[in-house]
Amino acid sequence: MSPSLACIGGTAAYDLLREGALVARRLGPQATPFGHSQPIYYCESRLGDFYFLSRHGELGYELAPSFVNYRANIYALKALDVRAIVSWSETRALSHNYRIGEYVIVHDVIDETTSRANTFFENQGLGLVRQWPVFCPSLRAAFERTLETEECDFSDQGVYICVEGPRRETPAEARKYTLLGADLIGQTLAPEVFLAKELQMCYASLCYVASYAENGSDFRPFENGRILDPGVQQRRARAAVERLPRLLERLTDVLNSTPAMCRCEVSMGHHVQAGQIDLEWRSWFEDEARPLENRTLP
Ligand SMILES: [Zn+2]
Repeated sequence: MSPSLACIGGTAAYDLLREGALVARRLGPQATPFGHSQPIYYCESRLGDFYFLSRHGELGYELAPSFVNYRANIYALKALDVRAIVSWSETRALSHNYRIGEYVIVHDVIDETTSRANTFFENQGLGLVRQWPVFCPSLRAAFERTLETEECDFSDQGVYICVEGPRRETPAEARKYTLLGADLIGQTLAPEVFLAKELQMCYASLCYVASYAENGSDFRPFENGRILDPGVQQRRARAAVERLPRLLERLTDVLNSTPAMCRCEVSMGHHVQAGQIDLEWRSWFEDEARPLENRTLP
């Protein structure tokens, strides 16, 4: 049986795979009507198998978030019968109330990206999808149980602001993002989470805090009254990443006993009921699969 869980990870997670901490078989990039996906791996673990997709490529950080083909990645995972996607994401905390190395099960997103294809349904009049809950509650509950079981330091609340990048934020932008209500800055969750919803997949993100956002000062932050040493910060962030294979393995097990309490599988149900699309999701993209000259004009 093919795994129903996939993890989309960044460069640090892919390094684990290169170093052998994640045991995987390479399936490679998959062809989709939206172009080729990033390479996909089949990971076997003691408690359950899962897929892994390397978001930024296989050489390192050769593909900045603005240039990732999010549609091809999500479509490819759906075509492999994946039902739930775990996004593993590095973040920078806007508030010093988050600890470096802490996990955050983010609960909401502000999309500040400007140049990404953010829907599968260009010129189709589809995709009016409600964005609450933003992340799958079943997956978030499973993250919580996994992190508790593994005795990890985590927060179950956090608003993630997705910025275009690849550059870092300016101090004024960091202050603006705080005023907007964001807790963590990252560059990858949008439009990934929205696209997963359009294909009726469960999606949630497990973030970790790798550093603090730019505050325009070279003075170091404090923790418990002591200056936080950069070496300590680096070691904590690294430790958070190194725990990933163990967490994914545990998650596959926890998911098997977590009752489904989400409606992700029917997020396009209103379009089906309105007769705009069929139940079979592949039929939604028959036009994209045709050569350009044979496509239906909008
Ligand atoms: Zn769900």
